[in-house]
Order: sequence, then structure tokens, then C-alpha cells
Amino acid sequence: MRVWVLGSGSRGNAVLIECAGTRLLVDCGFSPRALAGRLAAIGFAPSDVHAVVLTHEHQDHAKGAAAGAARFGWRVHATEGTLRALGAVPNAESFPAGATVAVGHAVVETVRVPHDAAQPVAVVVSDPAGGARCGVAFDLGHVPAAMLPCFRDLDVLVLEANHDPDLLAAGPYPPSVRARIASRVGHLSNPEAARAIRAFAHRGLRHVVLAHLSETSNAPAVALATVRGVLEGSRFRGALHAAPPDGPIGPFAPVRTRVGAPAQFELGLFA
Ligand SMILES: [Zn+2]
Ligand SMILES: [Zn+2]
Repeated sequence: MRVWVLGSGSRGNAVLIECAGTRLLVDCGFSPRALAGRLAAIGFAPSDVHAVVLTHEHQDHAKGAAAGAARFGWRVHATEGTLRALGAVPNAESFPAGATVAVGHAVVETVRVPHDAAQPVAVVVSDPAGGARCGVAFDLGHVPAAMLPCFRDLDVLVLEANHDPDLLAAGPYPPSVRARIASRVGHLSNPEAARAIRAFAHRGLRHVVLAHLSETSNAPAVALATVRGVLEGSRFRGALHAAPPDGPIGPFAPVRTRVGAPAQFELGLFA
């Protein structure tokens, strides 16, 4: 498995995961032209992508999905609510929030997250043969208890660290926007992200990528310092990164391949 964050922030989000011979995007919040440029920077073309899994319908996550499906034949996997909110999307396949679905040769577990969208989810993409697991959680107002079992035993974690509470409070947004961002269905703050990483951490977690950093209410150094502080003395032994908004970061790859897949990866049990 190899993972690249192609860019992350309010201007667009996409994660490329190459898993068991399948290349899938988690979210495609860039125009086809912008996405092609970001893929070219890491040696890929849009036609190398097989499918996109959408976390929710907001344009910074879904803008390029329909065009990619139409031009390159990508399959688009999303919850029923997300697809309804988006309207017509070619090659679309819906799944119930919380379902586990096969996407090519990869397995995608989903979990409902709290955010002001129709039916948003976080996802864990795993390799059923090697066992490597990558969790991606964008845009969530808080971390629901259901995420803990889903985000267990990860090798790579991409997690929103949207804002520093003090920078948000002192920033230029009107009070209604600040309240929406900080709400239980808004976006995750640096301290909330840090506590979640501490909860998800185990010795095999090799890379944590902080994502969706606000360019107004956050800064990479602030987010990294907050998370490092909370992780002090924890089980986390991996590397911590901050995803830039303007270009790819990666690849992040598990350094060990676990042998044998958990029983729930048997094909017959897919929801
Ligand atoms: Zn959103
Ligand atoms: Zn977003």
C-alpha cells in the first residue's frame, strides 16, 4: 500500500491510495485539470485511477468526481445521502453509511461522522492480502465513539486538524461562521485531533498526516506542536506530517506487511 495526500484544505482535498493493485481516490475536491497536475507530480495520470470514494458532497471533497467518472470511467462510491445531494454522477454506486464495501481489490470500511452534510463518512482502506490499513477522516465536528473500533490497527492515518481554537476566535470570520466551524457538526480542532490520534495510536501506526488545515485559523507549525504535545508519553512511535494545500505529500507506506487478514475481510461478509 502507498498513500499520497494530493492536497488538503478548504480549496480542495484528495488522497490517492494504491492498494492491492487498485488505485483509488478518497475524495476528489479538485477540478480535473488541477487533479491531473497533482497526479502528474507523483507520476500518475487520471486514467491510472480506478475509483473514487467520497466522504461527503461538499465541493472541496467532490468537485471533480463526476467529471472524472465521465472522462476516465472511474466508479464513484458514496453514501445514498451524498449521491442524492450531488445529483447526477456517472458510474455511481451507493453504500449505506457504516457498510464495508469492496472497491477493486481494496476493502473500504466506512463509519458515519458528525458534519453538516447529508450523510458524511470516514473511511478505512485496507489490503485484504497484506493487511495494511489507511484511515481517512476529513470534516468532522467531533470524533464519535464508533470511529474507535473502525480506526483500529491503522498503519497510516489522515485526519482533519482544521483549526487552532485561539486563532479561530481571533480570526476574521463572522461569529456565525466561527460557531459553525467549532460546532459538534463542524470541523475538528487541533486539540481534538490530537486526542483522537492518541486514542488511535498503537505501535504499528507509522504515519499520521494532519489534513484540512485552515489557512486562516491554523498553521502547520501550530498544529504539529499541539499534536506533539498531546502525544508525549503515548504509544505513538510513527512520523507526524502536515498536508499542504497546494501539492502532494507522500508516499506514505506501511513498513511491515502483516500476514493474514482478519475474518471480516472474507468476501461473503461484505455489506
Ligand atoms: Zn465538509
Ligand atoms: Zn472540507
